[in-house]
Amino acid sequence: MKREKSAELFERAKQYFPGGVNSPVRAFRSVGGTPIFIQKGNGSHIWDEDGNEFIDYCCSWGPLILGHAYAKVLEAVQYTMQNGTSFGAPTKLENELANLIITHNKYVERIRFVSSGTEAVMSAIRLARGYTGKSKIIKFEGCYHGHVDSLLVKAGSGLVTFGNSSSAGVPESFVNETIVVSLNDEKAVKEAFLQFKNEIACVIIEPIPANNGLLVQRKEFLEFLRTICDEENTLLLFDEVISGFRVGFEGAAGYYQIQPDLVTYGKIIGGGFPVGAYGGKKEIMSNISPEGSVYQAGTLSGNPVAMTAGKTQLEICLSEGFYNELEKKTSYLIKGILERTKKFEDKFKFFQMGSIFWIAFTNLENIRTAEEIDPNSMMYFKQLHLHLLENGIYLGPSGYEVGFVSHVHSYDDLNKTIEAFSSGLLKIFNSQ
Ligand SMILES: *Cc1c(COP(=O)(O)O)cnc(C)c1O
Repeated sequence: MKREKSAELFERAKQYFPGGVNSPVRAFRSVGGTPIFIQKGNGSHIWDEDGNEFIDYCCSWGPLILGHAYAKVLEAVQYTMQNGTSFGAPTKLENELANLIITHNKYVERIRFVSSGTEAVMSAIRLARGYTGKSKIIKFEGCYHGHVDSLLVKAGSGLVTFGNSSSAGVPESFVNETIVVSLNDEKAVKEAFLQFKNEIACVIIEPIPANNGLLVQRKEFLEFLRTICDEENTLLLFDEVISGFRVGFEGAAGYYQIQPDLVTYGKIIGGGFPVGAYGGKKEIMSNISPEGSVYQAGTLSGNPVAMTAGKTQLEICLSEGFYNELEKKTSYLIKGILERTKKFEDKFKFFQMGSIFWIAFTNLENIRTAEEIDPNSMMYFKQLHLHLLENGIYLGPSGYEVGFVSHVHSYDDLNKTIEAFSSGLLKIFNSQ
């Protein structure tokens, strides 16, 4: 596979951007080699600057549930753009996207659009604090919520801990407002509530944690969080930036039938444009300014072009059988790979939630916590990633990242992917 042009562009990019990229995981640090510079995408396929073609399972990290350059989305965007790209004043397009969401998602009564997942989470946390008058938050090790200061915190040692910041530049005083506990651990959550009685504004969780492997939770654990938040007058915040509109139109809330107090969206909601949102019960959301005293604003919030893209994409997600078909395709992919690699079935596992999949090099039956992921197992992913690239399959360049199947992945794509995955896995483990 030629990568000369990508290599040249990366050298150039390093002169402009820290590490040559505008978001760290793009730099291929965990898989090695040069990042691939994408020239174009169409449907389930992408092409790099060297002319290599790939079947894409990164899908821009999730937003592209209809694949690349979906004709209806492009047409709608082009039509809207002719009338201008931003006004900083209300447009009916905001109403239309909000109406579509609220009508078909019973977990959201009021919504506010912002421009990224990070911004959605940051705002929802401020709202939780403003509404409850408390300052601390509980988060879970292995959940990612964007690069919000007080959420760039990882667990320290011990059951219930103030975390350590996972980034330089986050003041200790911020870190001290965040309590980090393990996923799947009722005891630790109870302990945190005991230790910080009446201080916890919200518990934030990815109900389907998909940013550090795919750590599928027990429904009972999520129900436990709902109950304890109610008992303690704490808000339950579902960060559904990945799972929202992905595992179903009502996201994980709908999948588990658990009503969060606040929910955040991003990724799919913008149809490939920068959109985030937070929403929830009317009574809580009415505390946002100008109705209430929690300030939050945005120059490009509710951008008309982005609203159009989001609305067009979400309308298609609502079509009959849309999510069943996605899940069926993803199961077909995994089953195909497993059938061809039976010999090594104790070496790795696939985890799946709808159209999200993750391969873990483990012999554990379930992986529900970040601590259960063996960092040494990532060397297998590195080899697999290289093999897949050479065979025309693009996955996000890290073994901690999940893959996404889109509406436009064909069975021909899936069959090719099955072949590439299987030959890669057989090669890796036969050579051991
Ligand atoms: C991607 C993601 C974010 C951050 O969204 P950005 O748009 O990258 O700022 C936050 N939370 C979750 C669960 C995510 O998957």
